[in-house]
Amino acid sequence: MFAIGGKKDQAKAAALRAAPKSASKTSGGSVRPSNHPKLSMYTETPSADISLETFEAFALDRMRVLKAIDDGLSRGKKPAEMEQLMNEETGKHLKITDVVPGDFSTLGGAPLSKDEVSHFALRLAYCRTEELRRWFLLNECQLFKHRFNKLDAYAKAAFLEEHDMEYKPLKPETFAEKRKGISEVLHGIMKRDDAEKILNAGASGFYAVPFEEVADLVRGRRVFMADGEAYVPRDQLTSLVVGAFRASLSKSLAVASRRWAQHVAGEERERLAPVIVSLSKRYLGRDFGKPGDAGERGSVVTLKDLPSAAKTSFPLCAKNLFDAVRREHHLRHEGRRQLQLYMKGIGLSLEEAMLFWKTEFCKKIPAEKFEKEYAYAVRHAYGKEGKRVDYTPHTCMKCISSNPGAGEHHGCPYKTFGEESLTAALGGLSIAPHKVRDIVQKAKAHHYQLACGMTFEATHGKTIEEGVQHPNQYFDESRKALGFGASGKEGDENKETGSASPVTPGAAGARPARPSIQPAPVSA
Ligand code: SF4
Repeated sequence: MFAIGGKKDQAKAAALRAAPKSASKTSGGSVRPSNHPKLSMYTETPSADISLETFEAFALDRMRVLKAIDDGLSRGKKPAEMEQLMNEETGKHLKITDVVPGDFSTLGGAPLSKDEVSHFALRLAYCRTEELRRWFLLNECQLFKHRFNKLDAYAKAAFLEEHDMEYKPLKPETFAEKRKGISEVLHGIMKRDDAEKILNAGASGFYAVPFEEVADLVRGRRVFMADGEAYVPRDQLTSLVVGAFRASLSKSLAVASRRWAQHVAGEERERLAPVIVSLSKRYLGRDFGKPGDAGERGSVVTLKDLPSAAKTSFPLCAKNLFDAVRREHHLRHEGRRQLQLYMKGIGLSLEEAMLFWKTEFCKKIPAEKFEKEYAYAVRHAYGKEGKRVDYTPHTCMKCISSNPGAGEHHGCPYKTFGEESLTAALGGLSIAPHKVRDIVQKAKAHHYQLACGMTFEATHGKTIEEGVQHPNQYFDESRKALGFGASGKEGDENKETGSASPVTPGAAGARPARPSIQPAPVSA
């Protein structure tokens, strides 16, 4: 067990938890109670003792939801499809009513919310770099917006009042009095039908907001103003509230980042820090260092197959490392590690891996030097040295989060390559120039895994349905698409189906290319 939140916060947090659902500051306030569960702005750190396992399990559940949101956005899903996706994902993994199991009565409050615990766990995990913060912020805002939109009018009003957002529903008599002015503004900025739809909602379709909070709308004459207040249509209220949430979370992430660097990383080095660090890199798919559920180990590749496999089936990260070691007959530590584990994941045996590294390195250094300085690391990657751990190949997240220096080749090329180098690398894969441009644009927009998925599609004529999440998954999907079986032999896959030939990119009969795919980091 360990405590989340500082001890000072305990009484405060318990008191807050003890507050009624969708609490309303009813004393003097105008808000009626609502049955909707309370939506959190995550301004108060929950505080209680929970087990490290529960903490981690909750964090992973939230990650599943955020990852699904990120995937959906990157795949260009429409708003209605996103709504459905978020309903399904939150229903499965993160109901707002879920609580931490246990008796919290001694703390004087209701049970701790899973939603809040998991948010704060991931906040800590994703506060550590700018890229992680951006990813977390984007997807948390989407989740928050979805939940805010689902609140009924009373719960919305309670939320606004509780968080001191001075956005009041318009009084019917005020609406009646100002209807003409409001109508003129709306008809001036949108189509007649749209304006009428908003006006027909009456007073309940508008909120009165202090004008300085919507300065851009006021400046653009996009809202009706009276007595220092702007009358904002309900739809735009969501943007305002989400904007406030984004600003608050962004600030909190910056604070958490400083705290992490100054205290948590050091003080919790043994216990919490490793869990937190691993969370942002966690890959929720198959472990490519181990056999799959059905006992499969991915395609098996032998030394002699490596060059052709690299050409047709390696993702850009592995191909870049493979080409570098064959060109320079050397790779720095991080690059060696990434490629060694990747090659282990595609089924290259230890003996053949050793031969590969020795052959390449010994074009530049004597065999004794290789034995002394490099052979150990190859055996170590296979769990034959040191603690004898069967290390797993790097996930996309891990590759994306690394920052190679000059002369290093590890990481994800969609992130680390400049525009020119990426264009050249993709051109080398015989991808049509207009597709290369699209892929480079995706990479520039930080959608590295999406860009990688588009490369797969351009070179294989198929998509990876669940998106690219792991370099070894890319390899396995490529082998499947090209008709290789688990033995690594071409045609294996087709024996059972009776299909005559492997599917090749652009070949007649290959599945038509679909619109772009994606997943994304838990990239961040
Ligand atoms: S997205 Fe993943 S598989 Fe693709 S190049 Fe980057 S790290 Fe490799």
